[in-house]
Formats: sequence, structure tokens, C-alpha cells
Amino acid sequence: MPELPEITVLARQMVKELVGQTFTSIEVLQPKCLNISKEAFVEALSGALLLDVTHRGKWLFAETTQGWLLLNLGMGGEILLATRDTLPEKYRLVFDFDDGTCLVINFWWFGYAHYVGRGELGNHAATAKLGPNALDVTADDLRAMLSGRRGRIKSFLLDQSKLAGIGNAYIHDILFLAKLHPLRTVDTLAEAKTDALAKAIHDGLQPSIDKNGAFYEVDLYGQKGGFTMDDILIGYKEGKPCPICGTLIEKIKTGSTSSFICPRCQPLNKEGG
Ligand SMILES: [Zn+2]
Repeated sequence: MPELPEITVLARQMVKELVGQTFTSIEVLQPKCLNISKEAFVEALSGALLLDVTHRGKWLFAETTQGWLLLNLGMGGEILLATRDTLPEKYRLVFDFDDGTCLVINFWWFGYAHYVGRGELGNHAATAKLGPNALDVTADDLRAMLSGRRGRIKSFLLDQSKLAGIGNAYIHDILFLAKLHPLRTVDTLAEAKTDALAKAIHDGLQPSIDKNGAFYEVDLYGQKGGFTMDDILIGYKEGKPCPICGTLIEKIKTGSTSSFICPRCQPLNKEGG
């Protein structure tokens, strides 16, 4: 499932390739992924000029002269640049542009392609409740967000309404870089620890953006990301030595999910702040 690094890469590539182009036609093979009828969706966006593409969390926001196209790959999928002669075998939506290129979308299971009118973004429930992009949050912001809160730090980091964009791929290394046990409660974090966490969020996400995202996802050109298991510090590496202290990485149960930790670098007590 793409997370903030992969979505950031896609947004940038869509800006580069598609901004300034006009939607000429739209083919919808999976109307259930839309928030309005297929006919209304096609009519709303046909003839629209693409102005910009941004992202928040796992959503892409394509701004046009006729409103917004919001895309979310759900459990996974591809957003590819193609032409009518080079369409992939499987797809759910095709947006044709005036220069002959197409934006082709495939959802592995289920995703979303929503239309929102100009000035109505605040009424789109799924994106209106998203917190700021995790990479845009400063140490001061994070301290303010955590102040007076309770609950586990892992749950906070994965809560898209608090910070948008962190999921199961990057959470383990972010907590490791901050030397935080996933079950630490937020109210036990000293200020220095919160600062370390802000840095860890950056250091856990930016290297993947710099390498065009994770190796198991593809970008707009169908190229796999360059961020590989060699770049991952401890996530999904149980039984391997911790890159800092050599202790074997453990996979532990944390509520309904699993976590990967170095038991020595990430003690559950307040050791180290
Ligand atoms: Zn360690």
C-alpha cells in the first residue's frame, strides 16, 4: 500500500507530466470507486484543465479549472502514464488528455476516484478530517499535538487524522530512529524525546522519497522504487541484528498489529527520556 513517500513521488511526477493539459475524455470501468454517478463524474471533469497536483497522506489532490479529482489507491494499485496504444492489461479508470497521453488507474482491490466541486473541498469527509502531512510537522507542532494527550505513540503516529501519511511500511523504522517502544504512552515523552521523534519522522520518510519510493510500488512511469530492504533499518527484519547495537530484532504483538523493535534500543520504560 503506498504511503507518504510513494504518494509524494506520484504527485511530483503528475505535476511534471500533466499540469497544463486538458481532460478530453474519461473511461470508468469501476463506477463503485466514484462518489457520484459515472455520467456526472465524466461530465464534471471533461474539458477541465489540470492546474496542480498535491497530496495529503495517502490521497492525491488534482486541482482543475472545474473542481478537484481526488485519488486514493486504497489497499494498493497503480497510477500510470500511458497512451491508448500502451494501456496496461488491467485498469479501472482512464483519463485521456489533449496531447494523447492517458492517466491510467488500477486498484488491486478497491480505491477511490472522487470528484469535488471548486470551493467544496471542506465538505469531502474522507480528506477534510486528515491531519497535516507527517513531513510538514515541525518539532514545535508535534509537541503541541502531543501535549495533554494519552494513548500509545504507535497509535498516534498511524492515526491519519493526527498525522497524514505514515503506515505500516515506515512506522517501525520511525519508532526505532526515535528509540521509542511502540507501546510507550504519549504522556511519558520528555520534550527531548518529542524532538527526536520529529527528526525520526523526517529521517524515516525522506530517504524513500529521495529514492523514488518503496521497491514494491511503481511510480507514474511504471518504474519500481529504489528504497529496498537494504534501506530499511529494522522493519520486517526479525532475527537480524540491530544496525546500532547488534541485538536481534524482535517481532512483537502490539494490540491488533505487529511491531518490529530492537529490545535494547527501544525499551518500554522511560530510559533515555
Ligand atoms: Zn539496538
